[in-house]
Formats: sequence, C-alpha cells, structure tokens
Amino acid sequence: MPRLQSRHQRETAFLELAKRMYSELEAWYDAHPQASFGEIEAEARRRRRDLMGEMLALLINGRDVGYQLQPPTCTACGQAMEFEKYRPWQVKGLEGDAELQRAYYVCPHCAGQTLFPPRP
Ligand SMILES: [Zn+2]
Repeated sequence: MPRLQSRHQRETAFLELAKRMYSELEAWYDAHPQASFGEIEAEARRRRRDLMGEMLALLINGRDVGYQLQPPTCTACGQAMEFEKYRPWQVKGLEGDAELQRAYYVCPHCAGQTLFPPRP
C-alpha cells in the first residue's frame, strides 16, 4: 500500500535508485573493459528508462495518492463514498514508464466509482 513520504524520504529513495543504476553500470563496464563510448552509452540508455520511471513514481506516489479524510460524494446519488483500495495505474511516459497509485472509492448506495486524484 502506498504511503506518503516526506520530500527527504523521496529524495533518499531516489538517490538509492541512482546509486544502484550507477553501480550496475560499473559492474557492466568491469565485465566489458573494451567497450567503446557508444557501447557504454547504449548500456546507460537501457537503464535510464527504468530509473526515470521509478523516479517519476516516487515523485508522484510519495506525495499524494488521493486518500481523503473526508470521503468524496458520489456524483450520481450525492451520498458519501467509501474508500476501497489503492489501484495501480500504469503510465507510459516519453522518458520512463511508471506505476502510479490512485485511491479508489465506491458508492455503497448506487455502485458509482471514482479515482482520486483524477487522472491528469
Ligand atoms: Zn451513489
């Protein structure tokens, strides 16, 4: 279940990801000491997309995944909705793919449903 993270926690988590990527590149270069600059760059590019996607998920999910203390009201019947769970939302970006989380609410009165925050 996603949870809110402070800016410092998000930054620390991102630095861990970046450190892991760099460390993997070091290991790859150790194993391919004759690699040209172009080959090293190609290897870095393969990993960049994963890093970007994870960074975007951290940046967005750690901040707000839509859980509200005051539940939203159903747009169909006007009754208070109930939080059901967090739902994953796959986003394919230009620079990375991320799995975002959104709070999912359902209306116990008329089966209306909604996600918060709304999809941008
Ligand atoms: Zn309703």
